[in-house]
Amino acid sequence: RVVVVGSFNVDHVWTVAALPRPGETLSGHYHTGPGGKGFNQATAAARAGATTTFVCALGDDLGGQLARALATADGIDLRDHASEAPTGTAGIYVDHDGRNSIVIGPGANADLGADFVQTQQAAIAKAHVVLAQLESPLPAVEAAFAAARAAGVRTVLNPAPADALAPASLLGLADVITPNETEFCAQLARHAGERLDAATLVAHDDDTLHALCRRLLPQGTVVITLGAAGCFVSHAPGRLHGDARTHYRVAAAHVQPQDTTGAGDAFNGALSASWARNPTAAFADHLHYANRYAALSTERAGAAASMPHDADVRARFD
Ligand code: ADP
Repeated sequence: RVVVVGSFNVDHVWTVAALPRPGETLSGHYHTGPGGKGFNQATAAARAGATTTFVCALGDDLGGQLARALATADGIDLRDHASEAPTGTAGIYVDHDGRNSIVIGPGANADLGADFVQTQQAAIAKAHVVLAQLESPLPAVEAAFAAARAAGVRTVLNPAPADALAPASLLGLADVITPNETEFCAQLARHAGERLDAATLVAHDDDTLHALCRRLLPQGTVVITLGAAGCFVSHAPGRLHGDARTHYRVAAAHVQPQDTTGAGDAFNGALSASWARNPTAAFADHLHYANRYAALSTERAGAAASMPHDADVRARFD
């Protein structure tokens, strides 16, 4: 069982020849669909085969109805705080080179509070893994992780987006953090005063990466996702989660990516689901599964909609 605490957005996406400039009116191809890091990750966890609860805040509007319908379709146990604000939205322009401009209206997501999360303590205590991101208010995420810790439940923090600060108090409640290269550099700058760019980071050898991870999260596991290069993991000594080594890389699966939006969300949902389904397996096995799951998600367009099912992953790679 996985409990995901996070955001739900209705994404409005326009594909345009060039990103609009001030004063300009353009036309482009439009589509809409579900998004938000929390909901993407909950969808991935459910489709990867975990019993999944999603704790979020929704408005009393069409977006909220969409979230309920989609959660029902994927068998997600939805625990939503009823907000008076509109359901979260994202306006996204994508040009033909794949560059984007995004405006997020957090709306109801900003209303997810520690008090509501605390009413979900029973669900959290029954989980194997609690998964959260930084797209929701920090007190809500901290309340979820504190409840998890009190019940001996494992916590996974995806410290995204990169411009959100994870305070030391929250990092201290995380068993695993899963930044991409940019998010890792951002958190490292804040917590260790070390300024690195993503290109310099990935050029480091494994021992240096491990040392940097140990400075950021001395007591926990750091998984850095590396796009087409897969991921790197660094464990605290004595907390190897069934692995033989403190640090190593896991190569990505070979695919033909069409749209890498949501690859990180796919990875987080699948990693948490795999860990929850088989808590005694070696952590390397879960990373291997998460890489394959996320790779397959890049072959499909969309955020939550692009998440594959466990059977698709097995059919493709086993
Ligand atoms: P984010 O989407 O947060 O930027 P990454 O780009 O690191 O995250 O991707 C997350 C995971 O998705 C990677 O660790 C990998 O498993 C998978 N992935 C992403 N891009 C590719 C790719 N081109 N080929 C294979 N796997 C990929």
